[in-house]
Amino acid sequence: MLKKILVHILFPQFCLICKREGALICEDCLSSIGLSEFNYCPFCQAPKRVFEEGTCSTHRRMKLSGIFSATSYQEPLVKKLISKFKYEPFLKNLTSPLTSLIIAHFLLSENKLISQDKENSVLMPVPLVKFRERWRGFNQAALIASELSKFYKIPLFNNLIKIKQTQPQVELKREEREKNIKGVFTIKNPQEIQGKRIFLVDDVFTTGSTMEECARVLKKAGCREVWGIVIARE
Ligand SMILES: [Zn+2]
Ligand SMILES: [Zn+2]
Repeated sequence: MLKKILVHILFPQFCLICKREGALICEDCLSSIGLSEFNYCPFCQAPKRVFEEGTCSTHRRMKLSGIFSATSYQEPLVKKLISKFKYEPFLKNLTSPLTSLIIAHFLLSENKLISQDKENSVLMPVPLVKFRERWRGFNQAALIASELSKFYKIPLFNNLIKIKQTQPQVELKREEREKNIKGVFTIKNPQEIQGKRIFLVDDVFTTGSTMEECARVLKKAGCREVWGIVIARE
């Protein structure tokens, strides 16, 4: 407690949005972010609402079963917070407020999947290639996955590995993204994921090429199903 107070006095924090003293993002600003109450097909560009089946009927054969996205990347505060989290100087302390958006989304959308069959569920971050993680000092997706793991009491596995650096997906067209990401992931200890439901965690979901490729590799290695969890969808 004393340490906490001292840290507060010596290194006061100010809200990134309204500059009020207290936290990196104050509760008022955090609660002003519009959260998604529903779930949508990850592969339809025009939002198509989905229920227990995480995709629309057209996309049922995709490897990714569905996606849980807390909010939209178009929300101005969200864009700002994610970029402060991901780019220098990295604000790792944003992990908790950003994770709280995901937890709030699960409550709001009343989706129970995350709390069912926990003994057969696993959380897994979308990996970065090793040198990239060393350069940043952390994988932002792994920080969120770790918070979710503590909150939901679901084990966190780091079995998925990225073996090749790719061109940033944002710079590419849809078809190029699929080609760019093909064959860049591999699984360490596939026996650990046999029959499991995997929740794959990332910060932002764009076209889904990355998550779909991860899901393909994971399913081939023997897991039962793969669902995505992200802070925001583009
Ligand atoms: Zn604020
Ligand atoms: Zn669809």
